[in-house]
Amino acid sequence: MQIRETNLRFTRRLVNRRTTTQIVIHHTASGDVSADTVHSWHLRKAGWGGIGYHYLIRSGGDIERGRPEKVRGTHAARANSTSIAIALSGNFSQTRPTPRQMDSLVWLIRDIRSRYSSPGKPALAVVRHADLSATECPGLLFPWNELHRLLRQTPGAG
Ligand SMILES: [Zn+2]
Repeated sequence: MQIRETNLRFTRRLVNRRTTTQIVIHHTASGDVSADTVHSWHLRKAGWGGIGYHYLIRSGGDIERGRPEKVRGTHAARANSTSIAIALSGNFSQTRPTPRQMDSLVWLIRDIRSRYSSPGKPALAVVRHADLSATECPGLLFPWNELHRLLRQTPGAG
């Protein structure tokens, strides 16, 4: 699996995060949309400068880059300076993510965790947007327990 580069242009200077402790999962609350489309939505939000998420996973499982991984996102109040945001396209208040999206999500979380791991340091926590803010995001049908079960499996064994 790999990450598709999108080369989006941001209208604000992006600032590097100093600390990274969490990965926050979102949905787009829409149909299947590209990172480019979400970028155009977020460009209209004052002060965001472009797509707020670092990654977008399409219904077919493709992973698209949003903003660079090392910079602050704009996706969850109070957690922006300490977290990386992954959004899955779709509305999981109405449907579930596709199996390909879930496969890509597990791969991407492992990939990110491998870049932020060091001896004696706990793995980055994986949380829902709803765990941080008053929102349903990533939707009540998002299979949260299944995600954590998949993350506990040995890579390649399932
Ligand atoms: Zn969200």
